[in-house]
Amino acid sequence: MIASVKGTRDLLPPETRVWNRVEALAHEVFALYGFDEIRTPVLESTELFVRSVGESTDIVHKEMYTFTDRGGRSVTMRPEATAGIARAYVEHTLAQAGRPWKLYCIGPQFRYERPQKGRYREFRQIDAEVLGPADAATDAELLVLLFDFLGRLGFTGLSVSLNSVGTDATRPAYVEAIRAFFSSNENERALGEDDRRRLAENPLRVLDSKDPGVQHLIGSAGFPRMVDLLPSLDPASDAHHRELKALLVAGHIPFKENPLLVRGLDYYTRTVFEVTAAGLGAQDAILGGGRYDKLVADLGGPKTAGIGFAIGEDRLVDILPADFRKEALEGARRVVLIPLERADVEESMAVARSLRQEGIPVDLVTAAKGPGHGLRVAEKTGAALAILLGQKEREGGVVNVKDLARRTQESLPRAGLAAALRARL
Ligand code: AMP
Repeated sequence: MIASVKGTRDLLPPETRVWNRVEALAHEVFALYGFDEIRTPVLESTELFVRSVGESTDIVHKEMYTFTDRGGRSVTMRPEATAGIARAYVEHTLAQAGRPWKLYCIGPQFRYERPQKGRYREFRQIDAEVLGPADAATDAELLVLLFDFLGRLGFTGLSVSLNSVGTDATRPAYVEAIRAFFSSNENERALGEDDRRRLAENPLRVLDSKDPGVQHLIGSAGFPRMVDLLPSLDPASDAHHRELKALLVAGHIPFKENPLLVRGLDYYTRTVFEVTAAGLGAQDAILGGGRYDKLVADLGGPKTAGIGFAIGEDRLVDILPADFRKEALEGARRVVLIPLERADVEESMAVARSLRQEGIPVDLVTAAKGPGHGLRVAEKTGAALAILLGQKEREGGVVNVKDLARRTQESLPRAGLAAALRARL
């Protein structure tokens, strides 16, 4: 037996029905907020992620699926969606349209992480990006959209963790403050090899450390906080942050400030946010996002502001409220049609087609070994109704309909069958 690759998984029916419902709702909500879908390739030039996500991030440093293709190019299976969308924005000169672009993308991402509950090497994200506007209302709208979507899935009690990571105006001072903090012997001793590398290459990344001792230090009172530097070093970012918070309060979007939230990607500027949920264990972030006002220019495009988020769909589906899940699994009540003999197949196919044309889902079981076997198959597929069609029914212009849950059966005329079935579904 050849098993699936470590860290990847098959999504089987009926679970795929739940995924489809979630994605259908995402398409619907995005359309309501003026977003259009973009589909970018899974495979991108490795250089794209090195330049955008950042060389010293965990993603680029140790988690990418990178290989040399047969043409000798270094390519990478995308670990996240924003970089590819920003690349497409530059490549297709979308900026020239002179309008904001509100884009979303649903699809697989790949990271070579240690697989565990809620963490896979192939996982799926629902991703949204707004390219163009730089104002705080754009940030607020994106969070309103997010909460609308989560609310319609049935989530209650979720709250956003919010922070500002400043801009180039504050970054050098903040980086210095982090270095100064770890320059004391006692704090420095807490750093393992990975964190020493982070401190040397890109001190902000020390905040991503998974080491409990380092996390404890970062959470301590003496650790520097970016938000404290904003008012004096970058009043514009400070004003942006304040305006966003005021808009969220006005829009009743629940949030908590988390001055230590920096997110594990280098391209963020100003707003960053994350939503975590109980019940997911150690991997409790269901989504994250932030503003990236330099990314497009860094990728060779015109100076363009941007903000986006990515929802981890695997984790979202894992903790989906029971009502939404139940509705998705049971929502589509189906009909199975069973021809009793080979001679009944032709007519059964015709009946099935005409019912489907009227919108009734019909699953034709062509290879049943008699009515008993056909009914057992129907029950195993979870069908609500089974239609039996044999010589007697053909001659009488009727079908034999069994309600599999109620265990009743009745003979219904072929004329008007669709309406009669609909009433019973
Ligand atoms: P990021 O792109 O790292 O900001 O991640 C955004 C969201 O994607 C996270 O909040 C998770 O819900 C999800 N995610 C990230 N990595 C994984 C993974 N390896 N497996 C499953 N979900 C993931």
